[in-house]
Amino acid sequence: MIDAIMQRLGVPTALYRQGDYSVTSPTDGAEIGRVTLQDADAMEASIGRAQQAFETWRQVPAPRRGELVRLFGEQLRRHKEDLGALVTIECGKIYQEGLGEVQEMIDICDLAVGQSRQLFGLTIASERPGHHMRESWHPLGPIGLITAFNFPVAPWAWNAALALVCGNSLVWKPSEKTPLSALACQALLERAMDEFGDEAPKHLSQVVIGDRAAGERLTDDSRVPLISATGSTRMGREVAPRVAARFGRSILELGGNNAMILAPSADLDMAVRAILFSAVGTAGQRCTTLRRLIVHESIRDEVMTRLKRAYAGISIGDPMQGNLVGPLIDAQAYDQMQSALGTARQLGAQVYGGERQLADRYPDGYYVAPAIVEMEGQSEVVRHETFAPILYVMSYREMDDAVAMNNDVPQGLSSCVFTSDVREAEGFISDMGSDCGIANVNIGPSGAEIGGAFGGEKETGGGRESGSDVWKSYMRRQTNTVNYSRELPLAQGITFD
Ligand code: NAD
Repeated sequence: MIDAIMQRLGVPTALYRQGDYSVTSPTDGAEIGRVTLQDADAMEASIGRAQQAFETWRQVPAPRRGELVRLFGEQLRRHKEDLGALVTIECGKIYQEGLGEVQEMIDICDLAVGQSRQLFGLTIASERPGHHMRESWHPLGPIGLITAFNFPVAPWAWNAALALVCGNSLVWKPSEKTPLSALACQALLERAMDEFGDEAPKHLSQVVIGDRAAGERLTDDSRVPLISATGSTRMGREVAPRVAARFGRSILELGGNNAMILAPSADLDMAVRAILFSAVGTAGQRCTTLRRLIVHESIRDEVMTRLKRAYAGISIGDPMQGNLVGPLIDAQAYDQMQSALGTARQLGAQVYGGERQLADRYPDGYYVAPAIVEMEGQSEVVRHETFAPILYVMSYREMDDAVAMNNDVPQGLSSCVFTSDVREAEGFISDMGSDCGIANVNIGPSGAEIGGAFGGEKETGGGRESGSDVWKSYMRRQTNTVNYSRELPLAQGITFD
């Protein structure tokens, strides 16, 4: 099956069958490919090629660069099912979510095509007669992209589509757990480049499959003005100071610990649907997964009853076969989940679910029953992101306390309130409300749309990707003052003669 998919996606067999590094599917642990891990020297050479490609690409007018991204979007439309299936096989998310990830790529391409005609600056009033002041935006250079296993293609596309229309070249180090999806994206982009013609330089976009050492080499290289890194807070803590030490820029998209506040006036049918999708979808392995449910004490029993009923109906199994929950990525993820549940039990929590599933059928696949954990307070284990389907349920009495609990974690990615009270809704998204990058009303914390800026505060890293004015991150800002008079007046009224 993998060979047929890879062929249709245009990936040469040698790239994914002949290496020394085994790639396995979390579905059953079976090997699905062998790739070659590149070392730091290979990364160094790729950056040199990206620098050359940048010097050519920045000369192409931006709307024309948009045409390349349009063609790439067409390739994605044509191959949505194959790429979605590959994502499912390689990272274990269910096929519907694999398709959804590719749809996000298509959406960002559409956005970037329009943006390619809107890379605009300002005109600013000058204090001096006969002078014009304005602000213009210019391409940055080769952009370094580091991505995580759980979204193996969409975050790359969010960055790549905008970075390309902004006139930059790309060097992508994907997660070593999901290199085949990266090779497929590269193959589709190369097809689009062939269609586009000679104006697109050969090494405009490169994939360097490697581990941490390759990532570190990319991070340290001063020819790469921007590093956009998606992954754990641990990774961000290592990457951020290294990029800062050479005065580079970074976009950091790190861990989340997302909450829902459930008020007494909430529509519980809607809320339970939202909880189910956001807490167990992608087997709890989304950065925006719902991890903390802060429920008003007056409705806690009813909510727990409904949740247990909903969780009992979840189908767990092969992510290609219409189930709602697929496997965890690997044994380590399973161990971390069990360890967090063990700690919660020691703290007196009541744990429902969490057991391993289908171990007889898939001895090397790590399927789990999503867990609900009733906790009294927000202990250390709750404040930590465990990348697995664990939903901590806690209660509150006053809305101010619930908002304080929402904010009382080190991460600041996504959050939401379910309420029919306009004061609570508006308060939650006010200056005194949620401190997260994403704050929703009557919508779960996951599954954001491409038009808004995506990202979070505090240990989530502060980066923003996708829509709004995010394109500016991939360009450098220049202030221009033009004197069209025959005098040379100085600013600030200075006389100097
Ligand atoms: P990870 O941090 O283990 O790895 C992410 C990437 O960083 C990989 O490509 C890895 O090789 C690379 N890397 C690791 N250490 C590095 C270093 N010192 N220098 C350079 N590169 C390095 O993360 P993961 O397990 O693949 O993904 C799960 C994590 O990613 C979760 O914490 C999740 O919340 C987060 N995530 C965040 C977002 C977001 O948008 N905020 C999106 C997806 C995933």
